[in-house]
Amino acid sequence: MIPLCVPHLDGNEWQYVKNCLDTGWISSAGAYVQQFESMVADFTGARHAVACMNGTAGLHLSLHTMGVGTGMHVLVPNLTFVASLNAIQYTGASPILIDIDQQAWQMDLGLLERFLAEETDAGDPYPIYRKTGLPIRAIMPVHVLGNMGDMNRLVDIANKFHLDIVEDTTEALGSSFEGKHAGTFGKMGVFSFNGNKLISTGGGGMIITDDPELAAKAKHLSTQAKISPTEYIHDEVGFNYRLVNVLAAIGVAQMEQLPHFLEKKQTIAQMYRERLVAIPSIRFQEVDPRVKSNEWLFTIRVQRATELIKHLDTQGIQARSFWRPMNQLPMFAGLPYIHEGNVSQAVYETAVSIPCSVGLTPLDQEKVIQEILHFYESEGLS
Ligand SMILES: *Cc1c(COP(=O)(O)O)cnc(C)c1O
Repeated sequence: MIPLCVPHLDGNEWQYVKNCLDTGWISSAGAYVQQFESMVADFTGARHAVACMNGTAGLHLSLHTMGVGTGMHVLVPNLTFVASLNAIQYTGASPILIDIDQQAWQMDLGLLERFLAEETDAGDPYPIYRKTGLPIRAIMPVHVLGNMGDMNRLVDIANKFHLDIVEDTTEALGSSFEGKHAGTFGKMGVFSFNGNKLISTGGGGMIITDDPELAAKAKHLSTQAKISPTEYIHDEVGFNYRLVNVLAAIGVAQMEQLPHFLEKKQTIAQMYRERLVAIPSIRFQEVDPRVKSNEWLFTIRVQRATELIKHLDTQGIQARSFWRPMNQLPMFAGLPYIHEGNVSQAVYETAVSIPCSVGLTPLDQEKVIQEILHFYESEGLS
């Protein structure tokens, strides 16, 4: 089976994990956590980084740390992984879904701006959504598949309407806009190191921020809001959201290989784009020339998507459809959904992610390409 996107553990993972086991530093204290945080901060250019048990916890913690809670709205794209919305819901805030754009599959900024201009009233300081009478507190852009939208425009919109940005940058480690790393445009940004992400610690996450107070508060809240290292004294309701040292050890080893991983992802994506263009009906995610995408999960829009996935499966090739849009999930069906033609649905129905692991061999990639070309040629859809 050629897997879709699996971890690549080819560096010092074993040695660093062994070091944790040999020394007994497997849990929440230990040097790898701090080292992992420094490496992510250095790589992204953020001043501070706070490790978390996973990306979902990191998103929840970021929103909570910024004061997002009950009686507020957060703006989020309708096409994302469910964790973006779950994290908002955990705080008690209520998401407003914004459709995505046709080209880059990111939150549609034209739509976002028109919504804010036409459906909200100025508040003090946050805009009030006329329909509910509640303030809109923040925008959570999601850098879908490691691609990015026009971040200059997003920051302008956020400033104009007094909204904070929390970036769901879980998929975008290594991506940048005009040379500035994903996750550094908002107040806080959150990475994930889940099994299928660009680097993996099995499970893990990291918050980045330039704000020392937010960083300190997030760290504090992630450790049960414990104020003393020696006594059990806590000053608010906290969380146990820390990343353990044994997983941070894997993270350090993965970070060492990140530049190599990014190169591999570029090569794989470039090859797919060059070869699959032979089928005119296949459409690619468009990447703005100002964006450097990490090409995390290579995804194409095709005709007969379900049949293609089935066909690839019979050939031992793992392919996957996209996330079902959030407005179609039962628990989110009642949320406001701002759109002008439901692009999320059209992308969802046609998107297929294809194998792009860092360890994908040229031979296996050739097999994937050949199978896709054959499928469309035999279907007469080329
Ligand atoms: C992976 C992912 C998350 C959650 O990260 P976990 O580490 O799996 O909790 C959140 N949002 C998006 C868009 C993701 O792809």
